[in-house]
Amino acid sequence: MTKKKTCAVIGSGIGGIAAAIRLAAKGYKVEVFESNSYAGGKIRQSYAKGYRFDMGPSIITLPHLIDELFELHNKNPRDYFNYKQLEKPFKYFFPDGVVINSFADINRFSNEIAEKTKDSKESFKRYLKSIKTKYDITKPVFIESSIHRFKDFLKKDFFYGVVNFHKIDAFTTMDEDNKHYFQDSHIIELLNYYATYVGSNPFQAPATLNVIPHVEIGLGLFMPKKGVYSMIEALIQLANEVGVKFHFNTRIDEIIIKNKIASGVRINNDIKEYNVIVSNMDVYFTYQKLLPNNKGPQRILNQPKSSSVIGFYWGINREYQSMELHNMFFSSNQKEEYETVFHKKTIYKDPTLYIYISSKHVNKDAPKGSENWFVLINAPNNEGQNWEELIKESRKFAIKKINTILNTSIEKHIEYEGNISPSSIEVDYSSAFGSVYGNSSNKKFAAFLRHANFSRKVKNLYFVGGSVHPGAGIPMCLNSAKIMEQVMH
Ligand SMILES: Cc1cc2nc3c(=O)[nH]c(=O)nc-3n(C[C@H](O)[C@H](O)[C@H](O)COP(=O)(O)OP(=O)(O)OC[C@H]3O[C@@H](n4cnc5c(N)ncnc54)[C@H](O)[C@@H]3O)c2cc1C
Repeated sequence: MTKKKTCAVIGSGIGGIAAAIRLAAKGYKVEVFESNSYAGGKIRQSYAKGYRFDMGPSIITLPHLIDELFELHNKNPRDYFNYKQLEKPFKYFFPDGVVINSFADINRFSNEIAEKTKDSKESFKRYLKSIKTKYDITKPVFIESSIHRFKDFLKKDFFYGVVNFHKIDAFTTMDEDNKHYFQDSHIIELLNYYATYVGSNPFQAPATLNVIPHVEIGLGLFMPKKGVYSMIEALIQLANEVGVKFHFNTRIDEIIIKNKIASGVRINNDIKEYNVIVSNMDVYFTYQKLLPNNKGPQRILNQPKSSSVIGFYWGINREYQSMELHNMFFSSNQKEEYETVFHKKTIYKDPTLYIYISSKHVNKDAPKGSENWFVLINAPNNEGQNWEELIKESRKFAIKKINTILNTSIEKHIEYEGNISPSSIEVDYSSAFGSVYGNSSNKKFAAFLRHANFSRKVKNLYFVGGSVHPGAGIPMCLNSAKIMEQVMH
């Protein structure tokens, strides 16, 4: 009997779990090492005073990429977890009192835009067509493929991408592209906000990133029926069933390289040997902490990092009928807000708030008559700011804005409170500079300034997760594992 090849995965973020499940399907004996006590990394949940909070991601797109992992092992994903597409994905509140609802039904959404803004249904539909085109061009070449090997450039799809390069608008910013289609500030601000889904600034980031609204508006926003963390629970159940072994509370201290081949990992003084090593740790820290004798590609590793967030988990002891599952309260000055976050590196006095209330869909996430609010504010990455002070300020600004928009006194209804900040993100998830999305996408060709899913210098060493190609966010991390499999020797 031939001995199974072995693999160590460092980190159980969604990228690490997906890599483990994929390698198990390839016949590897896989072990996952996770320094935290739980699986999922930034996809995490907490319980307090009868409330459950999804502490990280809440916007779920392209869930078929999760389903694929079950199908690889001939399992039915619906036996593990379920989700539904949201008919009314978002409710957007503007400071002047305008409220726009988004709808999965594009005709309904177009009518809403025409009714609530100065722009027409036709402009909206033209815009949707243009962002679909961007997605269709970039998906096969970039989103689902490696771009780091010579043979990647010889593929038919790559040639198609080159011929249609002008259509992805790499030389225009997202804001300029949005202004090309619309005149009304509400819709422009609404669409500009998608830049922050990858921690970027719409006034700098290339319009190619307008593939993001296509994914949400064109392909749908979904909600797992038992909350976001149920996806991780389902994946861990699958991974256990297919033989993946998890070691929690176990930090990897070094990746062992022998003759330019990754051959094992060190935990304290204990060295364990493996045929393949996959790092799901932020790539910046992988080089800095686990590969001290291998400098890595400095230009890529030292790119500016994405922005981060300050967030509040609030148990609210009443219900707000005017709120939905996903809500956005826009700033009165979006340009100044982004200028403050990305250039002055602090928080803005009138920040845009994203408010996620999972109990609107998962009743038992909050006690009867109550709601679990997750309030998020854009924040700069960690450059040593006084976060304790900035958290206090953000809370004050958030409360003021909520009170104004909902005509309420929210503070007296907060019966439980927790928070997340760039400094806790750096510590809890080993994310470089507390950034949420790895390298920032603010430069024109930022897509080419992410680390490959393999090492050029060390054989059998691979990288997955939000800090490497093709990018951050759950779907991209899932694709990073898929691409890793494609580029394996
Ligand atoms: C507040 C917030 C909101 C977000 N919202 C969304 C959203 O709505 N939609 C969306 O798609 N994405 C969202 N994201 C982004 C998304 O969560 C991430 O892109 C994705 O989960 C990152 O997964 P990853 O595979 O890179 O691993 P990570 O989640 O970064 O996990 C890495 C894991 O590696 C472990 N680790 C690190 N070093 C070691 C070591 N030396 N030894 C052992 N273990 C180690 C860490 O403990 C961690 O568990 C959000 C993120 C945050 C923080």
